Amino acid sequence: QSTCVIIGASHAGAHLAACLRQQKWAGRIIVIGDDDRLPYHRPPLSKALLAGKQSIDQLLIRPESFYQKQNIEFMLNRKVARINRTDKTLQLADGETLAYDKLALCTGARVRRLDICGAELKGVHYLRHYRDVENIKTNLDGQRNIVIVGGGYIGLETAASLRQLGHKVTVIEAAYRVLQRVTAPEVSTFFQRVHQEQGIQLVLDKQVAEFVAAKDDPTRSDRVLCTDGSLYPADLIIVGIGVRPNVELAEQAGLKTANGIWVNEFAQTEDPDIVAAGDCTNHPNALLNTRLRLESVPNAMEQAKSAAASICEQPIQYAAHPWFWSDQCDIKLQIAGFNNGYDEVVLRGDPGVGRSFVAWYLKQNKLIAADCINRPKEFMITKQLLAKQITPEKHLLSDESVDPKRFLE
Ligand code: FAD
Repeated sequence: QSTCVIIGASHAGAHLAACLRQQKWAGRIIVIGDDDRLPYHRPPLSKALLAGKQSIDQLLIRPESFYQKQNIEFMLNRKVARINRTDKTLQLADGETLAYDKLALCTGARVRRLDICGAELKGVHYLRHYRDVENIKTNLDGQRNIVIVGGGYIGLETAASLRQLGHKVTVIEAAYRVLQRVTAPEVSTFFQRVHQEQGIQLVLDKQVAEFVAAKDDPTRSDRVLCTDGSLYPADLIIVGIGVRPNVELAEQAGLKTANGIWVNEFAQTEDPDIVAAGDCTNHPNALLNTRLRLESVPNAMEQAKSAAASICEQPIQYAAHPWFWSDQCDIKLQIAGFNNGYDEVVLRGDPGVGRSFVAWYLKQNKLIAADCINRPKEFMITKQLLAKQITPEKHLLSDESVDPKRFLE
């Protein structure tokens, strides 16, 4: 009986295991994860879990009974330390050796740490695993001064959730606008207004220099010092400045890596018995005509499907348009496509008032993406427009009186 071992028990790993069974893999499936839980949804960590609206038990990607029925085995709380491709074995950190016939790397990403003075002090948190949220929550009694470093999706979602709980929240962002890496200035300005309206203090264009130790307890930080000398009191600091792909296992095994584990459109590495999927991969996307590394659940799921198909020797090309979402305050932002290299933004609705509009991104007069703010209809339609390579006329895109369904006619 052949054995497929999946390293990483999260979105990509869980879906890959399920897809293997769907695609009639009859051998053993073993999923190894260094977390102590069955795979759970990560997006709610900064949203419903942090805001106390859901518990971790409600966030399982699939119930335990599903894996039992599908005969999918888990080794949780275990870490793979080495891959030996010559004899097709894995070495676990506790010394155990495990043989594989097929191997899937779903090792994901880990938080990028701020390497500044005070980085190791108590009170400085990151947010990637459910335990991070639990640690943060044990420090939330009473009204707290919370400083969030980073005005990206995770920083802003975290700010919104903590503000909802009544805390005083300050976001410090090094760029001159939030979400600078991922959205148009109009969208950043909109989110800045929304967060300020909620009572969140935004500090832009400022770099954090040090987490300063408390006078009464030098093991804990209680202030954030910026490079311009300004100080922000902080009972709690949460850093959200991006992630790095977990490529070390692949590297050590001699597989190619470059901002991710290098795979082809079928999620295959250069080793015919090893695939990779999710946040850890650098993959080509024929629709976008480029290679990229994405950090999103839809990418992890789609790529896992291709990876499972490759293991079952019925390759399916991974060529989906990216999509993503972010929930902040009462805003549901849904993003269709990939706006990299856009040269024009067409707005539908006014980002300056209210809480609903669309920013369509065009590149050389071709629609490539949309940020849909509380606009589920436009989001669904943009996905179809991208799939069919349709670019509606710009005056129609911006005209609120035109039903977006007409764009597909
Ligand atoms: P990961 O989820 O990173 O999982 C990889 C797993 O492998 C980890 O558990 C890791 O510890 C484990 N692992 C690594 N190396 C080893 C080893 N050697 N041995 C054993 N185990 C190992 N995406 C969206 O699309 N929408 C959102 O709104 C959204 N919000 C988010 C909010 C937060 C707070 C976070 C943290 C992420 C969010 N994301 C969101 C991103 C999304 O969660 C990731 O894209 C997704 O989790 C990627 O899944 P993955 O399986 O590739 O990797």
